[in-house]
Amino acid sequence: MNEIILLKLGELVLKGNNRRIFEDRFMTNVRRRLKPIGDFKVYSVQSTVYVEPQSDCDMDTAVEACAHVFGAVSVCRAAVCPKDENEIVKIAKEYLKDEMNAASTFKVESKRSDKSFHLDSIKLSQFVGGELADAFPHITADMHTPELTVRVEVRDFAAYVHASGIPGAGGMPLGINGKAVCLLSGGIDSPVALHMLAKRGVEPIAVHFQSPPYTSPLALEKVEELAKISCDYTGILELRTVHFTEIQEAIRDNCPEDLFTVIMRRFMMRVADKIAHANGCKAIVTGESLGQVASQTMEAMAATEAACSLPVLRPVICMDKEEIVTIARRIGTFETSIRPFEDCCTVFTPRHPRTRPRMEDVLAAESRLDVEGLTERAFQNVERSVIKL
Ligand code: ATP
Ligand code: MG
Repeated sequence: MNEIILLKLGELVLKGNNRRIFEDRFMTNVRRRLKPIGDFKVYSVQSTVYVEPQSDCDMDTAVEACAHVFGAVSVCRAAVCPKDENEIVKIAKEYLKDEMNAASTFKVESKRSDKSFHLDSIKLSQFVGGELADAFPHITADMHTPELTVRVEVRDFAAYVHASGIPGAGGMPLGINGKAVCLLSGGIDSPVALHMLAKRGVEPIAVHFQSPPYTSPLALEKVEELAKISCDYTGILELRTVHFTEIQEAIRDNCPEDLFTVIMRRFMMRVADKIAHANGCKAIVTGESLGQVASQTMEAMAATEAACSLPVLRPVICMDKEEIVTIARRIGTFETSIRPFEDCCTVFTPRHPRTRPRMEDVLAAESRLDVEGLTERAFQNVERSVIKL
């Protein structure tokens, strides 16, 4: 039996030209995502994207891949039928028999975009519904709250039969809302923040700060693995690694201990800002969550973001840890994030970090450092890698 995949697009508020840009980008992302799986024809008709296999391919894998492309609200497999009501019934009986056997109520909904088809949508639904009710006597018709909705679509070249699909990844097609630098530590929060930004159509460039020999190469490996898992939704992810040791040692040697964290975070922002400008990124994304640790008070965040020029976006700012963990589990990053290797935030951690740093104290402490030189050297030594699925 021939099958295709139907992807229903979300964000229906988008109109006119924006809608076309949305669809085109979505289809490009779907094509790229499906390339390693097989040869597919991808095209759109009225807010539905059709994915037609051109040869024998693994449809389970293709459906799963489509469900991870941002922009679709639902993904369903459909059987391709000749445009003949008896053929449609014959295929529906076979194709949907598991769903029909499992449900106790159902209805049929038809759509006829080929107006030359001789039955209108109501008549077609009645016909298919009647035949299915005869074939599966345990199930009754329910027009209002059916457990199963069988959908029949009669289009230009064929008819399609399907049941409800699985949820799509939602959001907006990757790349449609520009690029941002995402600060990726090895923790739980930042991979979730990166995912949420990507879901809004922003292409992320991940930036990780490491401080060898104080941080282990295993910490970097963990971040690379998190980046790889993130690719399950983004397809590809650029990762920049910043050598942060010189900066952290300079802070340790010259600044008051209780300001280490805020000053270190201000340097992260400065370097991230440079990477962002060099790569056409319009924002810096972090996994900060209000009140979670000393550096995530409103005062500390104000001091941190004063060091950079771009907006700082914090997708998980108002989420509880439990909520963040739920997303981390769903996107598959949680188990990797809880591995023990620590990132540079735990290097020279003050015993009593200042939760409400005063700006004049911060600036006085930084005046003992060559801020420009340190930032520029870290920026010049950034390492680049591209992580793929
Ligand atoms: P996470 O779980 O994401 O590590 P966290 O709760 O541990 O966050 P912090 O360590 O204060 O919080 O870090 C806040 C944010 O700063 C992180 O979410 C991340 O965006 C960024 N960040 C922290 N450490 C690093 C690092 N080594 N490399 C890149 N970004 C970092
Ligand atoms: Mg952390």
